[in-house]
Amino acid sequence: MEYDPSLPWYRRLHWQVLAAMGLGAATGAIFGAPAAEALGWIGDLFMKLLRMIIVPLVLTSIVSGVASVGGGKAIGRLFSKTMAYYVVSSFLAAMTGLLMVNLIRPGRNADMGAAAQSEIPEINTPDSPTELLLDIVPNNFIEAAGAGDMLAIIFFCIVFGAAITTLPEKPRTIVTDIFNSFFQAMMALTSGIIKFLPIGVFALIVAMVGETGFDRFAALAKYFATIGSGLTIHLFITLPLLLFVVGRIKPLVHFANMREPLLTAFSTSSSGATLPVTIKTLREKVGVSNKVSSFVLPMGATVNMDGTAIFECAGALFITQVLGIDLSIGQQAIVVLTALLASIGAAAVPSAGVVVIFIVLNAIGLGSNPEAIMIVGAMLAIDRPLDMYRTAVNVFSDSCGAAIIARSEGEEGVDTEVRH
Ligand code: ASP
Repeated sequence: MEYDPSLPWYRRLHWQVLAAMGLGAATGAIFGAPAAEALGWIGDLFMKLLRMIIVPLVLTSIVSGVASVGGGKAIGRLFSKTMAYYVVSSFLAAMTGLLMVNLIRPGRNADMGAAAQSEIPEINTPDSPTELLLDIVPNNFIEAAGAGDMLAIIFFCIVFGAAITTLPEKPRTIVTDIFNSFFQAMMALTSGIIKFLPIGVFALIVAMVGETGFDRFAALAKYFATIGSGLTIHLFITLPLLLFVVGRIKPLVHFANMREPLLTAFSTSSSGATLPVTIKTLREKVGVSNKVSSFVLPMGATVNMDGTAIFECAGALFITQVLGIDLSIGQQAIVVLTALLASIGAAAVPSAGVVVIFIVLNAIGLGSNPEAIMIVGAMLAIDRPLDMYRTAVNVFSDSCGAAIIARSEGEEGVDTEVRH
């Protein structure tokens, strides 16, 4: 119902979500912590609803998508294009972070004491590339699905989907039809949950503003400006250029079609929780086939995080500036590369990016420096607004990748118009 073009504006979902954000911010600012306490559970409930559908949605979407690609060669081609896009866009992002942190130099005279300390959760990231590879293959698919281990789930679904394409026609059609039908059912469920988006967003924003308030952000304005401008350049210049030059897609149309996933990413700070909205939008509004979107989006939500790459690079260099350490060009190159790795390793959940910054710090020998750890704690305490913004950039990059790859596969209907 929300896609009916004849609907008046106030019944359109994105306006409702925007209004919910404004109302939520006002309620949180006026009533503070008690409002956050009273309404927080609604936000939690909404996040649970979104998370509940991720595994079955990703499973059915990938298996039906890969099964329809037809044959190993086509899958290989799609896989190479997807990887190429992830690497190029994340690298451009990390370089933007590098540029901004060197231009603005936010670490000079930063007042870290103004940001409250908060506990740093333990990170559980693979130590080496071999370990990462071993982690991708699950011991047991059901266990991986139970744990929500996305890379392992994706791996299984891709090889399972590929195996389906090798079957004789009769069983192939039967299994593909079954997965297609399950996928449609999951999409219907997703649509149902998305109807509650304004309510969920309202409660999430009340909790965010009510719990944190605004004062502790002021002292670190330059730090915010650095990360914020890096994200802005990537979102409004780099990615639109990629869309236009490589995909021959009008960036404004893509932005307009992507409004709901962008608002959802912004409100939930989780690419994972946004994934159902992203998948639905790419299919129904951007006009990308299930074949491409099922390949690019779930994997993208897990490993392609441009906003996080900007943050890792600029954040780590910010820490070195606060500590008064000057890095050589070689060391800065290490920061860029490990920032890429950290963005791949970050889970698609709120503030994961801050936690994995230790991957970058370890590479430059600051991983167990007590002062550096203290600064990371402060960054974590004030992370929410930055997290909201970088999650939106993460999701937008995935959508650009899907649109560009769909065009390169000859799909004609991509972003031809703004769809309501
Ligand atoms: N919250 C981000 C995401 O889900 C990850 C991060 O913290 O950078 O995409």
